[in-house]
Amino acid sequence: MSSSFSSFRTWNVQQLPSTPAAFVRHFIGHFKGWYLAILLLQIAAVVCSILIPWGLGQITRTVSNGLEAERAFEVLRWPLTLFAVLLVCEVLFTRAAAGCHIHVLPLQRRTVTHVVFAYLQQHSHRFISNEFAGALAHRVSEVTLGVNQTLSILLFDLIPLLVTLSLATALLWTASPLLALFMAGWSLVFIAICYLLARRSHPLAQQYSAARSTSTGKVVDAVSNLANIRLFARHAFEHSYLGTFLDKEVTAAYRSLGYMERIRWFQTSCGVVLKLGLLLLALYLWRSHRIDIAAFVMSTSLSLLIISDVGNLSRRFLEFFEATGNIANGVRTLIRPHEVIDQPGAKALQVKRGDIEFRDVGFSYGTGRPIFEQLNIVIPAGQKVGLVGASGSGKSTLLSLLLRLYDVQQGQVLVDGKDVRDVTQHSLHQQIGLIPQEPGLFHRSIRENIHYGRLDASMDEVAEAIHRAGASEFIDSMEHGYESLVGERGVKLSGGQRQRIAIARVLLKNAPILVMDEATSSLDSITERFIQDKLDEIMEDKTVLVVAHRLSTVAHLDRILVFDNGRVVEDGSHEQLLRQGGQYARLWSRQFSDALDEAVL
Ligand code: ATP
Ligand code: MG
Repeated sequence: MSSSFSSFRTWNVQQLPSTPAAFVRHFIGHFKGWYLAILLLQIAAVVCSILIPWGLGQITRTVSNGLEAERAFEVLRWPLTLFAVLLVCEVLFTRAAAGCHIHVLPLQRRTVTHVVFAYLQQHSHRFISNEFAGALAHRVSEVTLGVNQTLSILLFDLIPLLVTLSLATALLWTASPLLALFMAGWSLVFIAICYLLARRSHPLAQQYSAARSTSTGKVVDAVSNLANIRLFARHAFEHSYLGTFLDKEVTAAYRSLGYMERIRWFQTSCGVVLKLGLLLLALYLWRSHRIDIAAFVMSTSLSLLIISDVGNLSRRFLEFFEATGNIANGVRTLIRPHEVIDQPGAKALQVKRGDIEFRDVGFSYGTGRPIFEQLNIVIPAGQKVGLVGASGSGKSTLLSLLLRLYDVQQGQVLVDGKDVRDVTQHSLHQQIGLIPQEPGLFHRSIRENIHYGRLDASMDEVAEAIHRAGASEFIDSMEHGYESLVGERGVKLSGGQRQRIAIARVLLKNAPILVMDEATSSLDSITERFIQDKLDEIMEDKTVLVVAHRLSTVAHLDRILVFDNGRVVEDGSHEQLLRQGGQYARLWSRQFSDALDEAVL
């Protein structure tokens, strides 16, 4: 475990370039040798394929120089051998290049995904909250695919084509400069026009792709809301709703595919011009004795070879734009500077006591109203503190600041006297166990979810944590016990079951500071009581912050802070606050009488 973990630490320090070209170059660097091999093999294959028409020319010359039929094989032995060698070499080089590509492609994909994902993991809480998880995952795979496509198109289409055209021009030059000029002129015009047409068709292709992903997105949304469709009997409505998006897709498809078809017409016409032009020109030059029959054969067969090579040039250009466009989109979204970063030379936090202090803290999420202004709270080591107050008063935000999910704009958050900005985030998060308000679970087994708290914990320790979290009973009653899958984000569990898994996970982590945000809010009061007793045992030597709406959850703690609009308005033990007769006392008597009513009922 430790070796893969340390390699992860080296991954995440990689700074990634933020322009598509530099980004691709960065990843070529990982497999330089392989790409160089592919390039050389491709060039070798192109040289062989271009020499084949030349070989044909040589054979034709020998044949046309009054060769006697019986001596044909004898005289042509060497030209024929050379011709065969060229044919075989072309195949071998092409296959070898493809072989190298097959080897490097999955590795390249793995590297890009790994590196980009490691970069994404370091983004701030704010970044992650502002983006759609699905969209980010989509960008990661788009970037990965984009890098592979860009390199494939460059290595297997564009570079070989340029080599083909240059070599063809050079060979024709040896025969006749006029032929070479015709070839060069045609190539330049053809490539330039293909490039321009592909550029113009790019937005159409993008619109088509956007229309496709919109209608797919609509289908996904509808499928995940099938229950709603059924409950509201909206089958027909959904049909026509989807229909409008499918119609738009059809319109976009006609536009994009129609344009591509026009490009294909242009390409085919250019092919005819090249074939006919070279043939007529070669014929004219041969007739006026300016070239021999070998050059004539070579130039006509070259034209055939080139036509087959350039057949899909516009399509390739278009795919190239798409791939680089995908990289650009992905890079723009993913490769932004990290917002919350470790200071250079930040040390690991080693909590010895567990004091927590918020000193003159000022914080706002954005440009809006600040959540905290001049907030001061000192929590001595080992104290158990309850945080209560109206919804939206800033309780969860306070915990986020302690975990440095956001940086404060003013003041300091200190753990054991150290500013949380001066220690590594990694060590900070290792020392604090958080049960969040909405515990998210991985779509993995219950055991894996709990093991997440401490990967090297033994099964006995896992079982102990499960017992303390009051989860043994329901886990045992599940079909696959510990190995049952919990569904996406834990949807196959009840709210209370999810909370107990989250509690077990944090108990296993056993960090010196424990923070709970409505950790037991979905539990019935009997189960809560049971877990509370267990939690009290393990809280013994820890500093603990407990956010709760149900006051009975925090009443027995050392101290209670009452929040109102980002300010601490009351501070003291349960008894002290009751005596004060303020907000807490009012809330307590209301909840107490509600509980009595319930008990009577
Ligand atoms: P509750 O008891 O309902 O959980 P809370 O006391 O935990 O409430 P917070 O979640 O801390 O309240 O929210 C405090 C304020 O900050 C709220 O007005 C909320 O709208 C705002 N807020 C919370 N999270 C964000 C965020 N990620 N971006 C912008 N504003 C936020
Ligand atoms: Mg909250």
